[in-house]
Amino acid sequence: MSDAAGLPRLQLRRNEDRRIRQGHHWVYSNEIDTAATPLKQFAAGEQVLLCTASGKPLGVAFVNPHSLICARLLERHAGEALGAPFLRERLRTALGLRERLFGEPCYRLVYGDSDGLSGLIVDRYGEVLVVQVGTAGMERLETELIAALVELLSPAGILLRNDASVREMEQLPLYSRVAFGEVPEYLELRENGASFRVSATGGQKTGWFYDHRMNRRRVAELARGQRVLDVFSYVGGWGVQAAVAGARAVTCIDSSQPALELAAANAALNGVAERMDFRAGNAFDELHALAQAGERYDIVVLDPPAFIKRRRDQKSGENAYHRLNREAMNLLADDAILVSASCSMHLEEAALIDIVRMAAFHAGRQLQILEVAGQGPDHPIHPAIPETRYLKTVIARVHR
Ligand code: SAH
Repeated sequence: MSDAAGLPRLQLRRNEDRRIRQGHHWVYSNEIDTAATPLKQFAAGEQVLLCTASGKPLGVAFVNPHSLICARLLERHAGEALGAPFLRERLRTALGLRERLFGEPCYRLVYGDSDGLSGLIVDRYGEVLVVQVGTAGMERLETELIAALVELLSPAGILLRNDASVREMEQLPLYSRVAFGEVPEYLELRENGASFRVSATGGQKTGWFYDHRMNRRRVAELARGQRVLDVFSYVGGWGVQAAVAGARAVTCIDSSQPALELAAANAALNGVAERMDFRAGNAFDELHALAQAGERYDIVVLDPPAFIKRRRDQKSGENAYHRLNREAMNLLADDAILVSASCSMHLEEAALIDIVRMAAFHAGRQLQILEVAGQGPDHPIHPAIPETRYLKTVIARVHR
């Protein structure tokens, strides 16, 4: 069945429109009336008119019959196919927020559903944009997307980092390529007054984690004269900023040697190399070894990768957070600050607080939570899409 504008219809089962009406964008395959509109009649990435069981249109969505999330609503008020004008308008709106927030062009420019662009991430490193396309529907608009970004920002280069594993859920190939202009080997960015260089193609995700900007600043404010341990440091985001803010000594731990080499280069770039040192290894082992050696720190930052990537990792992932926080307790000076983060969407804020609470209890330490922070405002939270709120950071004082 097609509507007047020529879009095929995708019909929900009775009462399955509720979450969508309340503002969410995602439709799961078991919510489709497959008798009326069989999913397998659609090609991956096709645009459809999403309808209620009674045929009332809800808006235009991208469909992917191969994905558990089989449709994503993009636009509620249109009945026709989305293309360049849609992308231009959404990108301009996204840029408006970031320009309002930040003085320098280094930020997450597009954060998927929260910016009305489900399946799209764009990070800005000054003149260079790094794009991650996560859905077949967005992939079909790639040409229009690159053109719209060029028109909006006249970048020197655009890199497509389409190598994230989320693409596998949409049965999309994994690759990375320059989509426009020239992309240098190292991307440059500034954050909280410090400068960083990250590998364009070899870095994690898009190269930098802008989501912790505010939390890194918070730690830097507390860092003057302190001994700081930056665990899972990657290229030194927290550690270098703490050193720039006057930390007495900063140790970075990461299992990736290339990441630590960049962290060292970033320390030098900011003139704080002589106060920083770097340990390559498994964080759990390194923490244990440092504690055995009697090392103590005034600030310990735990910013691990997501230990709970999928629901089925819940138990093992929670255990990893428990072990990590317990291990960190042994390294805290008598009166110290613990910063414990989790980017696992499946770990609730209350659960993380509980993990830190139990670790302190187990170590016989007093815990005072100063702040429970989240992601920076260039990763805005969509109020109807809880999945857009993934980052939790407990900032606590731990004392005797
Ligand atoms: N704190 C960083 C981001 C961390 S990303 C920042 O603010 O930019 C996660 C990092 O953990 C990666 O650099 C990865 O190399 C590292 N990593 C993953 N597993 C690890 C482990 N078991 N031990 C030490 N580092 C690990």
